[in-house]
Amino acid sequence: MTSDSFASRLAREGHRLQRSRTRILQLNLGKLCNLTCSHCHVNAGPARREIITRETIDRILHWFESNPLPVVDLTGGAPEMVPDFRYLISRLREISPDVHIIDRCNLTILVEKGYEWLPGFLADHRIEVVASMPCYSPENVNQQRGDGVFDNSIRGLQILNQCGYARPGSDLKLHLVYNPVGDFLPGPQKDLEKDYKTELLNNFGILFSDLLTITNMPIARFAAWLRREGRYESYLELLRESFNRATVDGLMCRDTVSVSWEGELYDCDFNQMLGLPMGGESWRGRKLWEVTLSEMEFMDVCTGDHCFGCTAGSGSSCGGALVEEPAMDAVSPGQ
Ligand code: SF4
Ligand code: SF4
Repeated sequence: MTSDSFASRLAREGHRLQRSRTRILQLNLGKLCNLTCSHCHVNAGPARREIITRETIDRILHWFESNPLPVVDLTGGAPEMVPDFRYLISRLREISPDVHIIDRCNLTILVEKGYEWLPGFLADHRIEVVASMPCYSPENVNQQRGDGVFDNSIRGLQILNQCGYARPGSDLKLHLVYNPVGDFLPGPQKDLEKDYKTELLNNFGILFSDLLTITNMPIARFAAWLRREGRYESYLELLRESFNRATVDGLMCRDTVSVSWEGELYDCDFNQMLGLPMGGESWRGRKLWEVTLSEMEFMDVCTGDHCFGCTAGSGSSCGGALVEEPAMDAVSPGQ
């Protein structure tokens, strides 16, 4: 057993975690959400009021005009609940018609009253949808996300399929995100994807593109649950012992700039929630529109012990697993 910090573990492996060329602009539009999931790293919910304003959107768009990154990834909360969601996407498309835009969607928002416009809007603007779906059976989904969430998620997926998402020959991508319902690592992504595809097609006629597996990070609401259950230390130890050096080069903090609803800069959404700014204390409070892309390049990434969540087993990122096979010395997942 070791109690290495993440930084010293990396150093021991001969790695220095530095930013590379930024490719992805990930905007966290705020903490407002229609759900209150038990694993949420944002502590999002219906009572939260922190959301991006039109003024901040305009500043970001102005910056984007001179720094047109190829990918814009919208997250939250439920990003679609932000009143200027449609304005933001329409302007991004005007500025950069081919920009790849991702909406991280909780699916249930698609069937909420007042959001009937949403599925057609996403399809018309060629938005890639990345949707949370922690299981293909109701018990696990409702346990993690709340009563009734499974049925509404299924309905949301069916609506997206009707709009052309994931249909044969369509270029509208619909990815699902799996995360474990407890303190264990996700199983192999490709095997789970096979099970999901079979179950969702046979039981509900649903098609989707790829399954992305994500490890639960020991922060925010999930960390509070781990502490309440007396399982925080053992989960951290599992992540530490499952460290896989092959994941380090692909860590998302290397090519993503994560921006808060107030425009502040972070290396990733997890650091954003922990208040660990990009560039350390000397950059605290800096806004996206106050820096250039070249200033971010080669900067050391701010890390903490939560980072073991990204390097455990097959690795974890907003794009799913980072390598096909977990390290030979990684601990097997188990509850
Ligand atoms: S995990 Fe996603 S859907 Fe659930 S409360 Fe958090 S932001 Fe909302
Ligand atoms: S939590 Fe993951 S993505 Fe964020 S800085 Fe740590 S290793 Fe990088």
